[in-house]
Amino acid sequence: MSSSSDLDLVPAIATRREDALSGLGKMVSQGLGWARKYSLFQYPFVTACCGMEFMAVAAARYDLDRFGAALPRFSPRQADLLMVVGTINVKQAPILKRVYDSMADPKWVVAFGVCASSGGFYDNYATMQGIDRIIPVDVYIPGCPPRPEQVLDGIMMLQQKIQDQRHQLIGNEPPALPAKG
Ligand code: SF4
Repeated sequence: MSSSSDLDLVPAIATRREDALSGLGKMVSQGLGWARKYSLFQYPFVTACCGMEFMAVAAARYDLDRFGAALPRFSPRQADLLMVVGTINVKQAPILKRVYDSMADPKWVVAFGVCASSGGFYDNYATMQGIDRIIPVDVYIPGCPPRPEQVLDGIMMLQQKIQDQRHQLIGNEPPALPAKG
C-alpha cells in the first residue's frame, strides 16, 4: 500500500500538461525558425574585392533571392544578417562593432572570405586577424574570394542554424516567486 507521500511523487496530470505545452512550444519554435530563415535582411559591410563576388551571388545567375536573403538594407536597424565582405583593418573595427551593436536581436553574422574570417594573407599590424575578435560569427565562408556556390552553401548552413535554434515564446516562463522576507 502506498503512502500519500508516494503519490506526491507521481504528478501524472501535471506531466501531461507540461508535455502538451512543450509540444506547442516546439511547433511555435519551428514555425518562427522557418519564417526567420527565409526572411533574412542583410546589411552588407563591404570593404574590398570580395564585394564583386557578393554582387555576383545577388545577381540573376545565382539569385540569392531564392533563399529569401536578397534584399540588402543599408540601415543596421532594419537588418538581421550582417555580411562582412572583405578586409577589415584595425581602424574600421570600432565602426563594424557599432554597426553590429545597432542591429536588433535576433541577429546573425557571416564572415565572407578569408580576409573577414582570419585576416587572410594580410598578416600585419593594420589588419584585423578575423572579425570574431570583436563580434560573434555564425558562419565562416572560406575562399579568396569565395565562389558563389560557397556563399550559397554558407547561407544554407546559416538557415539550418536558424531553424534549429530554440525560439522562446514570450511570457511562457513561470513568474518569479517573491523573495521571502
Ligand atoms: S578574401 Fe581575397 S578577394 Fe576577398 S577581400 Fe580578401 S583578398 Fe580580396
